[in-house]
Amino acid sequence: NAPLSEVDPEIAAVLEQELGRQRDYLEMIASENFVPVSVLQSQGSVLTNKYAEGYPGRRYYGGCEFVDVAESLAIERAKSLFGAAYANVQPHSGASANAAVLSAIAQPGDTILGLELSHGGHLTHGMKLNFSGKLYNAVAYGVDADTMLVDMEDVRAKAREHKPRVIIAGWSAYPRQLDFALFREIADEVGATLWVDMAHFAGLVAAGLHPSPVPHAHVVSSTVHKTIGGPRSGFILTNEPDLAKKLNSNVFPGQQGGPLMHVIAAKATAFKLAASDDFKDRQARTIRGAQILAERLTADDSKATGLDVLTGGTDVHLVLADLRNSELDGKQAEDVLHEVRITVNRNSVPFDPRPPMVTSGLRIGTPALATRGFGETEFTEVADVIALALRPGADVEALRGRVAALADAFPLYPGLQQ
Ligand code: PLP
Repeated sequence: NAPLSEVDPEIAAVLEQELGRQRDYLEMIASENFVPVSVLQSQGSVLTNKYAEGYPGRRYYGGCEFVDVAESLAIERAKSLFGAAYANVQPHSGASANAAVLSAIAQPGDTILGLELSHGGHLTHGMKLNFSGKLYNAVAYGVDADTMLVDMEDVRAKAREHKPRVIIAGWSAYPRQLDFALFREIADEVGATLWVDMAHFAGLVAAGLHPSPVPHAHVVSSTVHKTIGGPRSGFILTNEPDLAKKLNSNVFPGQQGGPLMHVIAAKATAFKLAASDDFKDRQARTIRGAQILAERLTADDSKATGLDVLTGGTDVHLVLADLRNSELDGKQAEDVLHEVRITVNRNSVPFDPRPPMVTSGLRIGTPALATRGFGETEFTEVADVIALALRPGADVEALRGRVAALADAFPLYPGLQQ
């Protein structure tokens, strides 16, 4: 039982270097966050040793009396946080939650209708190389070319034309709220099941700062590690008893074997924290930060360099910078921000003239910095640093100094050693 630094110094070095990177860079990948130390503790605990196939009180292994408590807490907290009658907290990830959802509500070969990947949809909503595109007949709706908003007339027209078994509402890169009631109306009209994937905006929903899909959807899936800021994993909610049974059997034994009990315990803690006033304040700073970014990036002097943001602003935790009119492409913009020590990802924008490895967009998110403690003042400074970095002839050295000042003022994991 020697420490990692002795057993495997190469991996110990990776942990240390990664902690240093997270401390020194400003993390603005919209799907990332920093878990609290309490969550790190469960994830690095002896619960990782335990097999617990089955569900609390109905396991296929002995010795589950304590992990049962952890999973029951996670289930009850998820239900109460989102006002759902049933929760499954076993999915290892968002993608495995989605695989279980689809296998519960559709048969291979059935038609599913989701948001076009290049318009902000997710791989598991029907991309052709993903299980969802291989097993199911995937068709897609898109955003309106002028407003860049999800085109609900297109959703209705595609639903009437293709009569999908499942309609999927949810996104990985979209800066506005969806109309869940209208999605449900369309689903009911064509006899489809409405599945909402709230992976990105679940934290905003938990804080009451974004409409909840739970009253409208037949089933809701999510990750825990994006806006919620918990362990990397997924969960599923429903209000329908028959569907709840199907979902459970499609997670285990349908898609997974033994649940990751150390992660499930950490999920319970994340859901507990998500019910607090601190969490609400953090989600409010997250949205405000994204709005400040949108405002500053589209200030008049930025527009002169061709920088814009999709839909002109945001209601959520991210901004999509639109570089279609800029000489700078998504790859160059991502690289220059990396030099300045701000981490973002390039992202195709709808109707992108540049190829997917280059792109004409940047997805810039605020959850991790809000968790770090950033408020309006700091988000204004970050926005100005980004706007300056994306201009021709940016003074990278000076901007890196401004990033270092922000990082130093909000130390990450103070005292933690890896
Ligand atoms: N669903 C949506 C909408 C997502 O954005 C993501 C992650 O990018 C996922 C599902 C998949 O989550 P994971 O990466 O945990 O499999």
